[in-house]
Amino acid sequence: MQSMRHKQVLNQSLYDRLEATFGSVVIHSEGESFLAKKRKRAFSKNGRYPYYLDIMSSGEYYAVDCPVCGDSRHRLWINHMWGQTFEGMRLNHLCCCYNEGCTELDGFGKTLIDLLDPKTLTSVVKRTTVTVETKFLRELPGTTMSLVELPQEHLLRNYMQKRGFSMEVLDSWGLCWITDSQHPKIHDTNRLLIPINLVQQGREQMGAWQTRYFDYHTGSPNSPSKKIPKYLIQGPTRLIVYNLHNVDTDFIVICEGVFDAIRVGKAHGVCTFGKHLTTKQAELIEDRIISRGGFVVFAFDPDVTAKQWDKLQERIKLWPNTQYLHFPPGVDIADYTQKQANLLVEQIKENIKERI
Ligand SMILES: [Zn+2]
Repeated sequence: MQSMRHKQVLNQSLYDRLEATFGSVVIHSEGESFLAKKRKRAFSKNGRYPYYLDIMSSGEYYAVDCPVCGDSRHRLWINHMWGQTFEGMRLNHLCCCYNEGCTELDGFGKTLIDLLDPKTLTSVVKRTTVTVETKFLRELPGTTMSLVELPQEHLLRNYMQKRGFSMEVLDSWGLCWITDSQHPKIHDTNRLLIPINLVQQGREQMGAWQTRYFDYHTGSPNSPSKKIPKYLIQGPTRLIVYNLHNVDTDFIVICEGVFDAIRVGKAHGVCTFGKHLTTKQAELIEDRIISRGGFVVFAFDPDVTAKQWDKLQERIKLWPNTQYLHFPPGVDIADYTQKQANLLVEQIKENIKERI
C-alpha cells in the first residue's frame, strides 16, 4: 500500500521519511529542478575529488527543525537531491542549518544519515541533467543506403532473414548500409550501420553509432582478421541506453546488444552495449522507468562474470521491481525466433499484472 500523498514533491520518499522523523516539513522552491554541470578541477590534491558540481539551480528544499541545535523554526534545509547520485557523484552535502550552522560540524552528516537511513529510501527523484561537455557524434560516418532499397541479391538480406530479422524491421530502427566512407576507423565498406539515438533538447538525435561487419561479396558475417573488428562502436555510449526514449514505461527488458533489443521490440527492448550498466545508464533508467513504478527485466547473456554481476547487483539494489531472465549457455535473446520473443514479452506483461 502506498502512503497517502499530501503533496506532489520531487522526492516523495525523502519527504515522507522527513515527515515521519521530524513531524513537520515545510517545502521551499517547490517544483524547482536541480541543474548542475559536472566539472573537472584544474588541480586536485593527490588526485582525490577530481570533479566538482557547478550548481546552477539547486531545486526543491524540505525544511525541518534541526536536531542538533534545538531549533524549532524549521531552519534545517535539506535538498530534494540529498542522498541521490548525480553524474555518479553522491550528494550527501546538500543541506544547511540556518540557525546555528550545524551542518558545518564534524559528524553532522553522520547524524543525519543515522536519522534518515537513506539506503532504505526507495523512490528515485526526477533528475534534470545538463551535460555540456559530452561529445555526442552527430555525423554519420559515410554515405548510406536504406536497407529496404538494397538490391534483392544483396547477401545481407539473406543473412538477416536467416537470423529472423526483416529489412523492414531493421530499417524502422534506423539501420542502414554504408556505401562509402572516409572515416579513419572504417577500412572497408562491408558494414551495416546502427545509428544510436537519444533525446536531447527535446528531440531525437544521433549521439553515437555502431557498425557491424558483413562481407557482401561472400555473405560472411565474420571479419577476416583481428584488425577488422566485427563490431565497431564510436561515441559516448556509456551515457546512452539504446531505445530508452521509445519504450512504454511499464517495463523494459535490458539487453546487451542492439540486435537483442530489436528482437524484444520497440515497446520494451533497450540495450546498454555490453554486460554492464554504467552509473549514468542506471540514472537514465531510474528517471524514465523506476520513478514511474516500472519494472526492469534483465536479459544479459549467461556468460556474465561474477564480478560484473556483483557490480550490477550493487548498483540496482534499491530498485524495487527487477527480474532476471535465464538463458542456456551460448544462447542470447537475439537467437530467439520473433515468435518466441513476442511470447516472452507477453509472459512478462502477464507476470507484472499479477504482481501489481
Ligand atoms: Zn542546527
